[in-house]
Amino acid sequence: MNILAVAAECSPFAKIGGLADVVSALAKEWHGLGHSVRVVLPKYGNIDCQRWNIKPTSSVVAVPIGWWQEYTRLWRGVLPGTDVPVYFLESRDYFDRAGIYGDPDGYPDNDRRFLFLSRAALEIASSIDFVPDIIHAHDWHTAFALAFLKSHYRFHPRFARTAGVFTIHNIAFQGQSDPRRILPLANFPLDQFPGSWFEHDGAVNLMKTGIMFADKITTVSPTYAREIRWTSAGMGMQPYLNLRGADFLGVLNGADYTEWDPQTDPHIAAPYGIETLSDKDRNKAGLLEESVPPHDRTLEIPILGMVSRLTAQKGIDLLLGCIEQFVRTGRARFAILGSGEARYEHALHRLGRRYPTRVLVYTGYNASLSHHVIASSDFLVMPSLFEPCGLTQIYALRYGTVPIVRATGGLADTVEEYDPVTGTGTGFTFGEYSASAFARAIERALRYYRHPVHWNRIRTNGMRQDFSATKSAQQYLNVFRWALEKIGRNPNST
Ligand code: ADP
Repeated sequence: MNILAVAAECSPFAKIGGLADVVSALAKEWHGLGHSVRVVLPKYGNIDCQRWNIKPTSSVVAVPIGWWQEYTRLWRGVLPGTDVPVYFLESRDYFDRAGIYGDPDGYPDNDRRFLFLSRAALEIASSIDFVPDIIHAHDWHTAFALAFLKSHYRFHPRFARTAGVFTIHNIAFQGQSDPRRILPLANFPLDQFPGSWFEHDGAVNLMKTGIMFADKITTVSPTYAREIRWTSAGMGMQPYLNLRGADFLGVLNGADYTEWDPQTDPHIAAPYGIETLSDKDRNKAGLLEESVPPHDRTLEIPILGMVSRLTAQKGIDLLLGCIEQFVRTGRARFAILGSGEARYEHALHRLGRRYPTRVLVYTGYNASLSHHVIASSDFLVMPSLFEPCGLTQIYALRYGTVPIVRATGGLADTVEEYDPVTGTGTGFTFGEYSASAFARAIERALRYYRHPVHWNRIRTNGMRQDFSATKSAQQYLNVFRWALEKIGRNPNST
């Protein structure tokens, strides 16, 4: 199958969250299964072209915007360790900036930047000589690509037999825009806007656009698929997901275990596996050595790690609401790596100053440190308000780092409460979104930490879980086949 993946993020080149990991892991897996994959990504100003060996090509592609053309030079690289081509769109106007989306509220021209990405993704097909069977668009940023596929490019020779699949990574970000501004740029008629597939609450809503124009729609876990279709977690998109219910399903994200395996991880001090689990503590000792004075480096105190964007979604309020009851008495240490909202960064730094040996806070984005924190911690906490899938808990399981999570979205699909009677389960969960419910789950977890038989059992249960991207890549291929059937093609002929 020829698959054109279009996204705003892709690891390791440009990453804010899980979207980047999933785009690159899926591309690698499909390639490994013998499919032909191309990834299209903006060439952001902060992409390290030298490090990743990304080179300019001789192609400059004209992209129709409104009644004129804009231009992009194509750069080319590969996903590291593979020969999957990644095409980077150069544009001084749109992408040559330090950030991906712009902090904290996003760049004011994000609608136009990603419109350009969506249109260019189709326009470059001739230059890269690719006839896609599937266009796989991720999140609102690339939804316009599917609208174009079904309209302006419907009879284009390269796309006449192409199906479009839309994957929702987080429905909280919907991409709203003023129709008078964006529709003329996208060459859609303004007078047909009211009630159209673009319109939600009087604005162009790109989440709705993706949902309506796609042949098949997926989201990143089965529980999140139910939540956004049937509850307010859908943030206004429920009617459209219901309308498209027969074409909508949840496919659980998977981990790239070539990147996230404690036996081969180059970012951690001491490799370990299920048979050598005691070596995990050497990583813990390493983290303490770096951040805690010698007199307080005891390994006895459990470390509760967190690697997260610092936003309300991630339940930082719950963490702040109960952390002191554990660190004041010295029953736990926290190691938190995060970046995001200033109010949370400040609150965490304040705690770090008050409990310098008990609350270790690292702000900023640091890929290598994220591996180190996950490997060195005994637990990983994710008290999310909502969580489409979540990858960090999946990584933690493989590292023998026991997740303590709120049972929502993908967290509910990947972490099972430990049952001391049957010895099954992989972590600790809670339901109610409150600091006290979270604290009770931590209390439970700390009790088992002190009990070697249960503790070993929980950790090894987690390490044996298989949430590999290979599985989700195969499920996506099934979705792609259904999408091809939907447009009248024989999926077995690709
Ligand atoms: P989301 O996509 O909502 O941010 P996920 O759990 O799906 O949440 O994915 C988060 C990804 O981003 C993980 O790979 C995690 O390790 C990484 N990550 C989050 N914050 C940081 C940070 N400050 N530094 C490095 N990696 C981070």
